[in-house]
Amino acid sequence: MGLATGWGLTERGVGRVGVIEQATIGHRRGSSNGRVRIARTTYPNPDYVRLMQRARRDTWPRLEAQLGASLIRRLPGCFFGPEGGLVEAYADGVARGGANAERVTLSRAKALFSTLKLQGCSVIHDHTAGSIDAEDTRHGINALLRARGVDLNLGVQVQQLDRSGPRIIVSTDAGEFSAERVVVAAGAWSARLLPVLLPRLMVHRQDVGYYQSSLTAGPPGGDFAWVFLGRTDDEIYYGLPEDQDTLKAAHHRRSGTIDDPDDPPHCRPKLLASLDDFIAHHFRVPLSRGDANTCPYTSTETDDFIVDVHPDDDRITIGAGFSGHGFKFAPIIGQILAELATTGRSTIDEFSAMRHLLSVSGPSS
Ligand SMILES: Cc1cc2nc3c(=O)[nH]c(=O)nc-3n(C[C@H](O)[C@H](O)[C@H](O)COP(=O)(O)OP(=O)(O)OC[C@H]3O[C@@H](n4cnc5c(N)ncnc54)[C@H](O)[C@@H]3O)c2cc1C
Repeated sequence: MGLATGWGLTERGVGRVGVIEQATIGHRRGSSNGRVRIARTTYPNPDYVRLMQRARRDTWPRLEAQLGASLIRRLPGCFFGPEGGLVEAYADGVARGGANAERVTLSRAKALFSTLKLQGCSVIHDHTAGSIDAEDTRHGINALLRARGVDLNLGVQVQQLDRSGPRIIVSTDAGEFSAERVVVAAGAWSARLLPVLLPRLMVHRQDVGYYQSSLTAGPPGGDFAWVFLGRTDDEIYYGLPEDQDTLKAAHHRRSGTIDDPDDPPHCRPKLLASLDDFIAHHFRVPLSRGDANTCPYTSTETDDFIVDVHPDDDRITIGAGFSGHGFKFAPIIGQILAELATTGRSTIDEFSAMRHLLSVSGPSS
């Protein structure tokens, strides 16, 4: 989100832009690492459907054109789960938001997504789904910012923001920066820099498994993205092809022990074993887990993002709490954060319509 904001600021012609990152681009403890992310328009809240439609229509293509690269590979999207469970709310959101996604009969779903068992499931087919090349997105924006003269400071940790003077003093382990305006997009570390976020953010490390099969040709879980929607928010699993030989899958964990983003990013065998059980239960083909890794979610109670101006200082803009589903919005969030930082408002109507949901103090109706 920080890189995307840098891009948004250069798009607005802001002259002197600096990005500060404590580690490297795509490092293992951050939330944006790894090779792929799912793109989808299927959401229970039609506001996110509309924001995603705008991002796919406008912002992603603009970024792709500037990078000279295609960043999203289209894939069918399969959203499945027990009738009467979360899938009903997603079907409702899709219908209200006008997403290009539809409920399909079980026999049609079994033909489309033949590697899944789908027994007793309701299924939504999302025609807008895809696999985002997360690696190319990160490196592409990074290179573009360098080419545009952005001051990229990698391996520099911000320790404090001093807001007492006419300019904000950003103290780091490599010295001080003085800034007219600051955008904080610090992922799992956001509340350390801005304590106002402390009551809103929960960090949960995710354990991601990578599965292979000796029996199939092509992506072992099928060449589609999928999300299993159980009966509660804790019963969500998802996956997509990492490459031709590997299925990436994970449990969308947003409860239980709160994690410290500075802890060593070790996988937890018990959580991986329960992911293995899910895969064995839902896939027709035998899949065996090879690698695994972890990546933190920074979630809000409602899974709504925080995209807002600081309540006590309009020189600071905040992008946080991307709740395990932010990557697909990165370019449009970058544009919105850049607009909020420079003018206090956004030209993206889809964002303005949902701004009450994304405030620092929490969603208001
Ligand atoms: C396993 C997993 C799967 C996911 N799958 C999907 C998906 O399929 N589709 C989707 O849309 N989204 C997905 N997401 C969510 C998405 O990846 C995140 O919402 C998004 O990457 C969050 O980006 P961010 O910039 O907020 O955080 P980060 O990428 O963590 O960036 C914050 C950066 O700030 C730096 N930082 C923090 N504090 C300081 C400091 N004091 N000084 C300097 N630098 C600092 C950190 O080092 C970090 O690099 C997934 C997330 C995970 C973990």
